[in-house]
Amino acid sequence: MFSHVTQADYDVDLFVIGGGSGGVRAARIAANHGARVRIAEEYRLGGTCVIRGCVPKKLFVYAARFAHEFEEAAGFGWTVEGATFDWPTLIANKDKEIARLEGAYRANLERSNVEIVRQRATVEGPHDVRLADGTRVTAHTILIATGGHPNLGLDIPGRELGITSNEAFHLERLPKSIVIQGGGYIALEFASLFAGLGSRVTVVHRGDKVLRGFDEEVRERILGELVQAGIAFEFGTTIDGIFDVGEGSKRIRLNDGRDLFADEVMLAIGRTPNTTGLGLDKVGVQLNASGAVAVDDRSRTNIPSIYAVGDVTDRVNLTPVAIREGHAFADTVFGGKPWSVNYDVIPTAVFTEPEIGVVGLTEAEARAQGRRLDIYKTDFRSLKATLSGSKSRIFMKLVVDQASDKVLGVHLIGEGSAEIVQVAAIALNLSATKADFDRTMALHPSSAEELVTLRTKHASSDPIPEVSAGATPAI
Ligand code: FAD
Ligand code: NDP
Repeated sequence: MFSHVTQADYDVDLFVIGGGSGGVRAARIAANHGARVRIAEEYRLGGTCVIRGCVPKKLFVYAARFAHEFEEAAGFGWTVEGATFDWPTLIANKDKEIARLEGAYRANLERSNVEIVRQRATVEGPHDVRLADGTRVTAHTILIATGGHPNLGLDIPGRELGITSNEAFHLERLPKSIVIQGGGYIALEFASLFAGLGSRVTVVHRGDKVLRGFDEEVRERILGELVQAGIAFEFGTTIDGIFDVGEGSKRIRLNDGRDLFADEVMLAIGRTPNTTGLGLDKVGVQLNASGAVAVDDRSRTNIPSIYAVGDVTDRVNLTPVAIREGHAFADTVFGGKPWSVNYDVIPTAVFTEPEIGVVGLTEAEARAQGRRLDIYKTDFRSLKATLSGSKSRIFMKLVVDQASDKVLGVHLIGEGSAEIVQVAAIALNLSATKADFDRTMALHPSSAEELVTLRTKHASSDPIPEVSAGATPAI
């Protein structure tokens, strides 16, 4: 238990700047260890994930998936006539749920005796914080957990006519057409969900493939799926101007001279850590090349009393990672239980339609480590698709280390991939081998059973035989 008797010279033991995933967890755990904690939030408690990230995004994804479900229901004998979609209802219900979650965050902080300050806070000294109303607060330890904001890219003409993910959650109407710039998580998730809801979607990407950093086969296959779902892609180009042409329509000028027209233009070209204007320069807190707070594996900055967690450190920008970094910080500094986050096995999903779930190394990453690999993969129509008529296919790939038989990576595309990969991550954490996967009894009929019945090794370039396995009994 943390004793604050020795910290009496300070107003609080811990001042957390930023009430998002990382900051809230750190504040609560530190307070539970006995620290006197204050947290400042300038917008809404819950941060990006709860207010304008993961949670509202996933609610939109659920909304969009009904379109596919309605289409696919016919093959099972259902007639779904007159189905209509009402955007304002979705927005209102989403807002209600977000407000409920924000309240739960507040209640949890209050229950842990964390004092909440609804203002912007900046750093004035190694132990000094200044609030927007001018109040000065002294703290033994300061935690920077300010997250990030959408990168707007170059200052092109008409940039203010574009939206980012922040505004996409509050549009007055569903756009009939939208152009989305970017080829990462946010661009593809929003492309998929807008397309599902009925918008005409064009993705403009500077590269020649989407999802840099993902396994090459996942990158190629998801593109095929998204094109099949009606999303248009413009590769090797960028937007260099946006012009209002009246009646809610915009002309989008590409840098190769072509024009696109759409109701909305969304920029999804990465996020920038919130370090500007935070006073970090006054104190000499070091930033790295991307403008993020530079920290060590214990989330310590170069100033001994200042720590940082979450997206503001630009390590792995995912909510569970920010939460764990906040927890490790609080246990280490206030709980007498030092530990560091293990970044080796981090599952992640891209909530496109179909969704992607991955954990561990890509084939290219594993080869770059000089390993000899066995690649197991399959591509099949799910049992559901046999009646629904869906052309979408399920893809699974295991990257296995030949020398140790250890499964190094699991890469999935298809319904339920996010759910499956969360469990696969447990196996990878336990250093499961391919033999362990093989020994595991299949669960039938499921798509996931293919993961424990993969038998054929592939050279990475081998085509996969045309099989319609999936829920076919292993006979
Ligand atoms: P944040 O959650 O951003 O919290 C920082 C908080 O600090 C904010 O509330 C901000 O208002 C506040 N703040 C900033 N400066 C100050 C200041 N000076 N004073 C007071 N308050 C301040 N991750 C996933 O794992 N899964 C997903 O499906 C997923 N989907 C996403 C979808 C979108 C559209 C976006 C944008 C992100 C998504 N993410 C997802 C990423 C995830 O939201 C972030 O990784 C996570 O929120 C980071 O938490 P954090 O605590 O570091 O920062
Ligand atoms: P990403 O880093 O995933 O993707 C950014 C995309 O924008 C890339 O395709 C990149 O291209 C492109 N890009 C970057 N700069 C420019 C530029 N100046 N002009 C044109 N294109 C550019 O960022 P996102 O904004 O999609 O998401 C931010 C982060 O939030 C994610 O990385 C992830 O950590 C988190 N997130 C997680 C989600 C999840 O877990 N499901 C969902 C949403 C967000 P290139 O590849 O060539 O660099």
